[in-house]
Amino acid sequence: SKVYLNGEWLKPEAAKISVFDRGFLFGDGIYEVIPFYCGKLFLLKEHLERLRYSLKEVELKCDISDFEALILKAIDLAELNKDDGAIYIQVSRGMAPRTHYFPESYDATVLMYAYKTNLRGFQDQFKDVVVSNDLRWHRCDIKSVSLMANILANTEAKKGGFAENIMIRDGFFTEGSHSSLFFVKNDTVYTHPNGKFILPGITRNLLIKLCKDNDIEIVEKGLPVSALDEVTEVFITGTTTQITAIKNLHFPDKIVHFGDEIGKVTKRLQQLFSEEVKNQTGV
Ligand code: PLP
Repeated sequence: SKVYLNGEWLKPEAAKISVFDRGFLFGDGIYEVIPFYCGKLFLLKEHLERLRYSLKEVELKCDISDFEALILKAIDLAELNKDDGAIYIQVSRGMAPRTHYFPESYDATVLMYAYKTNLRGFQDQFKDVVVSNDLRWHRCDIKSVSLMANILANTEAKKGGFAENIMIRDGFFTEGSHSSLFFVKNDTVYTHPNGKFILPGITRNLLIKLCKDNDIEIVEKGLPVSALDEVTEVFITGTTTQITAIKNLHFPDKIVHFGDEIGKVTKRLQQLFSEEVKNQTGV
């Protein structure tokens, strides 16, 4: 298997970056994860558009016009044309003497590789998550590689045996450490609005469209923790998570249970999601 680094396809052991790379020194970089089913990319345009957005928001100059071709080559070189997997892309602000301000000119460091991952059977998952404080910065809309708050919270979740942590900011649920978050209340689906406090999840955005196209009530409004009593279903979404149903929410002092079976709205959306994957990839 080969990784792409700054114009070359290399064995992972041979792919090296400078200790002065700003991605290493400051976490000054942007990333994307794009799924493929049987080697066929899903929502590629949307992911590349978000990559462009993130780069623009942090003024990271990088020409990504050849990325689509590189992505296809990454799948090919990894011999994953018949497998499910994902593409990891990272762009950092290259090498420069260490100063907080960034240099006016630099060569962005571009890393890309394809890897195999299991995208089947998400419909059968019914998992527990833990609630944590949202300690992230105020630009969660940028897919930055600076993920310290996410990784600290998710490591705590992992230690407790949980699938994910979901976060609360100022009394409202925002999202997971690496997933978007949805609630169902009175047959209406709720999810935090896009903006500075969540990542505009590509799977999230697709789900909103699927709701609208199929007469499922959807409201982009943050759910206050105090309204949890009325919630009947919870699920998280993401590129590799797809749609995972949540069984229990663990608070420091209580556990909130959402039934012994996956809820009907969640199930319906999982079905619609699978149909969309089939329509776009043939899988
Ligand atoms: N929210 C955060 C913080 C994430 O890191 C991710 C994905 O990694 C998501 C949401 C889900 O986004 P997507 O559906 O684009 O994978």
